[in-house]
Amino acid sequence: MSFTTRFAPSPTGPLHLGHAYSAILAHDRARARGGRFLLRIEDIDRSRARAEWEAQIYEDLAWLGLSWEQPVMRQSDRMDTYRAALDRLAASGLLYPCSCTRRDIAQAMSAPQEGVVGPDGPVYPGTCRGRPLSQAGPNDALRLHIGRAIAHLPTLPAFTETGPIHPGDHALRAEDLARSIGDVVLSRRGMGTSYHLSVVVDDAAQGVTEVTRGADLFDATRIHVLLQSLLGLPHPTHHHHRLIRDATGRRLAKRDDARAIAAFRAEGATPADIRAMIGL
Ligand code: GLU
Repeated sequence: MSFTTRFAPSPTGPLHLGHAYSAILAHDRARARGGRFLLRIEDIDRSRARAEWEAQIYEDLAWLGLSWEQPVMRQSDRMDTYRAALDRLAASGLLYPCSCTRRDIAQAMSAPQEGVVGPDGPVYPGTCRGRPLSQAGPNDALRLHIGRAIAHLPTLPAFTETGPIHPGDHALRAEDLARSIGDVVLSRRGMGTSYHLSVVVDDAAQGVTEVTRGADLFDATRIHVLLQSLLGLPHPTHHHHRLIRDATGRRLAKRDDARAIAAFRAEGATPADIRAMIGL
């Protein structure tokens, strides 16, 4: 299988220098290996995704000199596929419904300062864990029962990291998953899926052999690798890259519109200038 990687932006704001770094790195790694570079629009959050931002993504990436295969995968077109993946996990008894709000979760933790913070925030204290799936209401989230998920697999998987920050092989460990990941949400209230579920299902559907993304998502990788095993999907390698920071050392976010690629373009920057700014 040829080397295949992807750039998977959410169309919820302008692409900034951090996105440019991620996209160019993935693109160049694919081209250097005679492999494939794919694009995926991660628009499951319908309240924040906008067609204008999606159009701007294509324009910015083309201006940067990148090219990608058509058609582009768009997550909002794939809700049936996510449903099928949830059904599969449900059939194995690994999901339960949860109606807790963030506030409920904070209150349920007797000593919040002792609570562990995982990739999605405070690790869920398990308030709804005893609820059967048959009682799921339309406004409930669906959580993965991490204890059952671990017990469901004959052995826990490992993943290979090729990025510069945590290189090498990383085995998943049961205690660590239970303590620092916990019962993650796989279907968000009113959304019918989640970032973690969709990214795993889609990387497999797109034949991705290496996931390229920022180091801020390294901690979520254990969730993804676990889900790959639970869903019988292949394990890609991962390449988590350094984050682009502003002058004060903060990492860039969508709100940093001043660092938007479009803003630099409007000021007359060239694609070569952008590459130089991000050290490529
Ligand atoms: N859609 C995610 C983001 O824009 C990236 C997901 C990924 O690369 O796994 O941050």
